[in-house]
Amino acid sequence: MNSAAGRRQSILEGIASAARLAKRDPADVTLIAVSKTRTAEEAEALIAAGQRDFGESRVPEALDKWPSLLARHPGVTLHCIGQLQSNKAAEAVKLFDVIHSLDRPSLLQALTREADKAGRSPSVYVQVNIGDEPQKGGVPIGEVEGFVAAVRSSPLPLAGLMCIPPLGLEPSPFFALLGKIAGDHGVAGLSMGMSSDYRAAVMLGATAIRVGTAMFEDA
Ligand SMILES: *Cc1c(COP(=O)(O)O)cnc(C)c1O
Repeated sequence: MNSAAGRRQSILEGIASAARLAKRDPADVTLIAVSKTRTAEEAEALIAAGQRDFGESRVPEALDKWPSLLARHPGVTLHCIGQLQSNKAAEAVKLFDVIHSLDRPSLLQALTREADKAGRSPSVYVQVNIGDEPQKGGVPIGEVEGFVAAVRSSPLPLAGLMCIPPLGLEPSPFFALLGKIAGDHGVAGLSMGMSSDYRAAVMLGATAIRVGTAMFEDA
């Protein structure tokens, strides 16, 4: 099954079996196809196969690819998963339905201002710097509580917490930690898990997984 539809089907089966093991409902897990670096044609083949959630990392690339696709496929939900500069907030608010990389007060301010101007509020995940890595985006764990409170008093709906575990380490402890932090602060959604670790993420409570390579390339 080396088609986009076939790869998508096996990922959905992976989600279902991981959810079954953890006594979760697979319908509580949104599969986001990460279409960064892929063509509009590749994305459209997945839409034809039933895929509705797509993730992009860079605003300019998403602006090249998605407005025409969205005009043809109004049921698609577009997710911003990459680091977002405040000077791209206006474009991001207009294009994306969900932003997974909200990681600092200045960006919250910019998004709030632009959402007000555009009359459109994307929902947001607070990205947590789960491995305490200086070079990575994300709110330090100790600042999650205050930042979540700031988002809750903003007009942007809080979708949950998001993390990218440190490269080269077993990801599961970081997924479990994100789940614990979310529980501590009464946050429902967890955006975690990629091609190599989405089953573990689902077992540990992911509600949104972001899968690129396994969706678009044969193993
Ligand atoms: C690229 C990317 C993904 C997808 O990674 P794969 O390993 O290709 O599935 C997921 N999340 C983020 C934040 C990414 O930048």
